[in-house]
Amino acid sequence: MASIRIEGLTKVYPGDVTAIDGLDVTVEDGSFFALLGPSGCGKTTLLRTIAGLEEASGGSIAIGERDVTTLAPGDRNVAMVFQDYALFPHMTVTDNIAYPLRIKKVGRSERAAKAAETGEGLGLSALMERRPGELSGGQQQRVALARAMACQPSVFLLDEPLSNLDARLRLEARTFLKRLQKDLGVTTVFVTHDQSEALAMADQIAVMEAGRIRQLGTPSEIFRRPANTFVANFIGSTPMNMLPGKLVGGSLQVGSLEGVDAVSAGWAGAGAPDGEVTVAFRPEYARVDGKGPLVFEGTVETTESLGASVLVTARTDDGQRVQVVVPEGEEPEVGAVVGVAPASGRVLVYDAEGELLSP
Ligand code: ATP
Repeated sequence: MASIRIEGLTKVYPGDVTAIDGLDVTVEDGSFFALLGPSGCGKTTLLRTIAGLEEASGGSIAIGERDVTTLAPGDRNVAMVFQDYALFPHMTVTDNIAYPLRIKKVGRSERAAKAAETGEGLGLSALMERRPGELSGGQQQRVALARAMACQPSVFLLDEPLSNLDARLRLEARTFLKRLQKDLGVTTVFVTHDQSEALAMADQIAVMEAGRIRQLGTPSEIFRRPANTFVANFIGSTPMNMLPGKLVGGSLQVGSLEGVDAVSAGWAGAGAPDGEVTVAFRPEYARVDGKGPLVFEGTVETTESLGASVLVTARTDDGQRVQVVVPEGEEPEVGAVVGVAPASGRVLVYDAEGELLSP
C-alpha cells in the first residue's frame, strides 16, 4: 500500500494542449479518491500519467517513497481498470485474470491458484471457464477488477469503472466497489464525471477544471461548502441558487432585500470586505414558508416531481429565479406567492472572483 504524491505536474500534448497545469495533490495511503470534473478537464490524462501511460511534461509523481515519474508502467506497481474493461475476448475468465501474472513469468500452477482465489473473492467461481462475451456487464467489470487485483498492486487506477453498467447495476456496483476498496485497503484513484458516484463512494474528491484542482475535500465538504462558484455550480443534482448581491458593512444587499444583517441571515462571515458578492444556497436547504431571516418573495412558476420531493421554481419581483426542494405533498400551487427562506447556517457568500468568503 502507498500514498501518491504529485507535485507541480504538467502534461502538454502535442499541439500545445495543456491538459494538466502545474497540479499538486497527495492521495493518502488506503484512501478512495475521486477525480471529478467536466469533460476535457484532464481527469483521464491525470490518471494515465500516474499509470505511466502518458509521460509527464513537468513535475513529479511519487508512489510511497519511490519517485516513479520516469518509470515504465510495469515498474510502478499500479493496476489500471479501463472504461471498457479491455478483457481478452478469446480467453476464459481464469486466463484473463491470470494474464498479468503470465507476463510477470509467474508459474502455471501458481497462476491458476491465484486466479481461482481472486475470482472466488469477487464471486466469479462459477464463471471461471466462460469467455467475456458470455458474461453480463457487471460480471465483466468484476473480471476486470479481479485481473487488476491479482497483481496485488499498491495502487488501483479506475477510469469510469461503472460507466458501462445500466442504472440499477451501477448502484449495486457502487456499493460493491466501495466495500471491496475498504476490505483491500488499496489506495484507489477513480475518474468519474458523475458527481453522485463521487459523492457516494469517495473518501476524498478533487474537483478539476482546465487541468487544475478547484477544490479538494470530503464529499460532505464539497457538497456543503463549495470553495468557489465553479464547484458550487458543478455539484448538486439541482443547481445551487446564486443571487447577485452586495456586502456593505457586514450587511447583505440582495435582490430587493436591503441591509440584511449577514450574521442573523445565517452567514457567519462577518468582517469580509465590502463589494459585489454572490449569495448562494442549495434548493435542498431552503423552505417556502417565509420563515427565516433572509426571505426572497417570489411567484411560483413551476413545480416538478423528483419522486419523494418536488422542485419548486419561483421568480422574484426583480426577475431572479430561486428553487427549493420541498417534501412531496407540501408544494405550493403554481402562481402562489411564496417566501423562499434559506436555512440558517446554509447561506454561502462568494466574492467577485467567485471564491468563498471565509469562514
Ligand atoms: P472526459 O471526461 O471527456 O473523458 P477528461 O477530463 O478525462 O475528459 P482528458 O481526456 O484528460 O479529459 O483531456 C484533457 C484535455 O487534453 C482535453 O482538452 C483533450 O482534448 C486533450 N487531449 C487528451 N488526449 C489528447 C491527445 N492524445 N492529444 C492531444 N490532446 C489530448
